[in-house]
Amino acid sequence: MEEKTISFLKRTYREYYFKHNESVEFPTQIAQREFGYIPFGGSMIRHLVFESPGQLVAELLRQAPSSVYCSNATYSNPSLPMDEKGWKGAELIFDIDADSIPSSCKASHNWWYCQECSRGGKGVSPATCPSCHGNEATQVHWACGECLAGAKQHARRLIDFLVQDFGLSEAQIRVYFSGNRGYHIHVDDDRFEKSDTQARAEIANYIRGSGINLNLRLRGREGETHAAFGWGARIDGFLANISQQPRRRTSQKILDDIILENASLIDSSVTTDIHRVFRMPGTLHGDSGMLKIRVDGFESFDPLVEAVVLGDGRVKVHVGYSPEFVLRDHRFGPFNSSDTVLPTYAAVYLLARGLGRVAE
Ligand SMILES: [Zn+2]
Ligand SMILES: [Zn+2]
Repeated sequence: MEEKTISFLKRTYREYYFKHNESVEFPTQIAQREFGYIPFGGSMIRHLVFESPGQLVAELLRQAPSSVYCSNATYSNPSLPMDEKGWKGAELIFDIDADSIPSSCKASHNWWYCQECSRGGKGVSPATCPSCHGNEATQVHWACGECLAGAKQHARRLIDFLVQDFGLSEAQIRVYFSGNRGYHIHVDDDRFEKSDTQARAEIANYIRGSGINLNLRLRGREGETHAAFGWGARIDGFLANISQQPRRRTSQKILDDIILENASLIDSSVTTDIHRVFRMPGTLHGDSGMLKIRVDGFESFDPLVEAVVLGDGRVKVHVGYSPEFVLRDHRFGPFNSSDTVLPTYAAVYLLARGLGRVAE
């Protein structure tokens, strides 16, 4: 990334944190957490410790990093190497990424970009760039409104599992838009705090519908044919719905359809990692300039409006390549090796991904 582009991004992020540091949500037991950040144009710095919210905000303003992370775990000595930290417990967190939710739109915005010569094109990334013949052509992960609606649907299913099957109250579930392509769901419940990787894997498998079978509905009390809750109830509901239709499906097909309609495709590797650092709520995403934002009214929440928090000052940029995109109900692009003037939030959306440069 060019120096001028890096300094534009840093200036924009710093200004945001200067004006809006009240948006940053600090964890409980802050001094026992591990923090990390990624500077623009640099790589991850981890194992940092902050004693207070004020100290952390001061560092945010000093560094204006592209991404800021905090551990879900608490440690006796968070600044030490991982095996010496002294793990004490960790919040249960789920990640739903639009990339792993099937949606029909993906083929239309599947495209690649070459960091070497700033050219791009539709479809799957070629092994060598057809323009500069280098090896820097990579697939770009893009999430449109439809992809994000798919992720939201799986977040809705996850909340249903947490409330109906795990007995959580809505107040114990904090839903965040990740700032780019999905949702993070944080659970406040001491029952899970000490759970190890194995226990978290079982929770993740259950929610993803791994190992579910049609006999689950029969596991009620004796003589009871309908399951009251859990996968059994979901299976019952599905079977009741299709009971009017002619039975042409095999039981395997029925099971597949039940899972397809009910499971939440959370990322298991995130849920089971008890030493992970997560993007801090209320901070800007390093690839998009959108905020990791707390979702209050879940049904009406539109990430491409509400998480777009940067200003709308005009910036002249050169865009290597970008499909059409919509932010705050404004349509931008498509761009192909073109100079254009964009509002700050849209310029950052492209430049933070490395798809262009500041042109003035
Ligand atoms: Zn190239
Ligand atoms: Zn899409």
